[in-house]
Amino acid sequence: MLNIVIFGPPGAGKGTQSQLLIDQFNLIHLSTGDILRGEIAQGTELGIKAKSIMDRGDLVPDEVVIGMIRSILEKNPNAKGFIFDGFPRTTVQAESLDQMLNELNTSISTMLSLDVDVDELTKRLLERGKSSGRADDANESIIRNRIKEYNKKTAPLKKFYAKQNKLQSITGVGSVDSIYTKICEAIDQIK
Ligand code: ADP
Repeated sequence: MLNIVIFGPPGAGKGTQSQLLIDQFNLIHLSTGDILRGEIAQGTELGIKAKSIMDRGDLVPDEVVIGMIRSILEKNPNAKGFIFDGFPRTTVQAESLDQMLNELNTSISTMLSLDVDVDELTKRLLERGKSSGRADDANESIIRNRIKEYNKKTAPLKKFYAKQNKLQSITGVGSVDSIYTKICEAIDQIK
């Protein structure tokens, strides 16, 4: 199986690059942000609870997102692999993911970390906010909170995967195609 963690701060381009990867490698895309926004759109109990947390730019509780991932893993026993996008975001989530994959006799193949500086991220998110309709893209102080949460709780996961020799850092600035080429080179490294 090819199991990829696509990693990086909000606005790094994880979703865009994931889309290219699923088409090429036939993987299942697991974006916790997309799944949560789907719950909000459907007005489920989970969605109602998650909305105010997400609109502030805070993280949804670990057990909620871990439960979502577990149920998708269980529903896809014959998958060729998964792309984890926006998950894990905390050490607890990363440890749970390792354990869940271990139970399925598989593991993370690589973590692809997209590096983009804060000014560029803020610019991209504000631009996206003009059309995305996402409350968390709409103003700079919420964007700053998301980046702060990322630096505090999520960025340490680079060390978590580096210790397992799985971290590959990629520049997330440049054209979509040029970044994707680097991603494919990184995947070739592990094959
Ligand atoms: P971005 O990477 O641009 O911030 P996402 O769609 O990945 O966008 O996430 C949007 C919001 O959804 C996050 O700010 C957070 O509130 C919530 N969320 C998504 N994934 C997780 C996760 N793994 N753990 C906790 N909260 C999450």
